[in-house]
Amino acid sequence: MKTDTKIARLGRPHAKDGPVSVNPPVVRASTVLFPDMETYDAAGKEKYTTLRYGRHGTPTAFALADAVAELEGGYRAIVLPSGLAAISATLLAYARPGTHLLVTDNVYGPTRNLCDSYLRELGVDVEYFPPRIGADIAARVRPETVAIYCESPGSATFELEDIPAIASVAAGHGIPLINDNTWATPLLFPSFERGVDISIHAGTKYIVGHSDAMLGIVVCSEATWGTVRNLVGLLGYSTSSDDCYLALRGLRTMALRLERHQANALKVARWLEQRPEVTAVHYPALESHPDHALWKRDFRGASGLFAFTLASDDHAAVVRFADGLRYFGIGSSWGGFESLVTLPHPKREHDALPEGGSLVRLHVGLEDPDDLIADLEAGLTALSK
Ligand SMILES: *Cc1c(COP(=O)(O)O)cnc(C)c1O
Repeated sequence: MKTDTKIARLGRPHAKDGPVSVNPPVVRASTVLFPDMETYDAAGKEKYTTLRYGRHGTPTAFALADAVAELEGGYRAIVLPSGLAAISATLLAYARPGTHLLVTDNVYGPTRNLCDSYLRELGVDVEYFPPRIGADIAARVRPETVAIYCESPGSATFELEDIPAIASVAAGHGIPLINDNTWATPLLFPSFERGVDISIHAGTKYIVGHSDAMLGIVVCSEATWGTVRNLVGLLGYSTSSDDCYLALRGLRTMALRLERHQANALKVARWLEQRPEVTAVHYPALESHPDHALWKRDFRGASGLFAFTLASDDHAAVVRFADGLRYFGIGSSWGGFESLVTLPHPKREHDALPEGGSLVRLHVGLEDPDDLIADLEAGLTALSK
């Protein structure tokens, strides 16, 4: 079965057993009633795959989790109420006082905040490594290292990690490689073929795809599933079935949307590259990106999120530029159908972007790219005056 066919079918009931709605219904539940004690006790052994108690998951949540796990080639997935909840639960499943955690320096800001505050206070030694470290990460692995955490590309500066190289080091030490795969989704980066053990998605972004629900998904290998599932159970997370329904609905059109996001983003990025006000465009799909060859080797496409550096470091002027755009909304998140602009200030220890100037991040949506370019052109022209 090819990917587009899979996307149309995964997590759906089959009509062979009787008439069913195309989409699985939203099952809302706390209490689930059983015919007798024996059936109730038996369901306790399968509580994360069958309906037993609302917090352990509903058929709507299982349908989404199974669909994403199968699409990405993982063993099983867990849904959580946000992408950040998926990240914190996964890190807490491994972090203990006295352990050591290797984290890429281009990691999502809130992930870094969790590491720098709570995890360090817990006694976890968090070490940030330069994203382009590749197999040299071996020199940083210690006996107490419990996991390597990647985000490729980082969602503010867009360096790629060499995931297969890092994965083989992780495997050699018997520790999991965790990767935040939100930018690429299961479609554009096949995590488990590349050696990832745990793939994390902010489903909030492209999977939901319409900016109207929060959702996290952790896709695990067979070896890591029990550890993560157990911790999520201990923490008591419960994810709304309505939001799982929206995510599964979003998933059906994700391949099509990503195709257009990529085409539009490429057109806008290539146009920006030619502008005198712009010193660099940080989009792995561009030939000028330092990790373009790696992207071509490991990815099946690019999504619609990238950044560029404006030569100007006049912050007030850059703010006026962002404020003046008509079609790029100002707001957190990305992955919906609409275009967005933000001005990130990523914290870094290693090789931050070299150029100076001001970093601008765009999410290129499904609007007509010529309108988006005209919008940016008006803004840049005003900026250079
Ligand atoms: C948005 C985002 C998250 C967090 O997702 P939420 O659903 O907003 O909690 C995690 N990782 C990356 C790369 C993101 O962009």
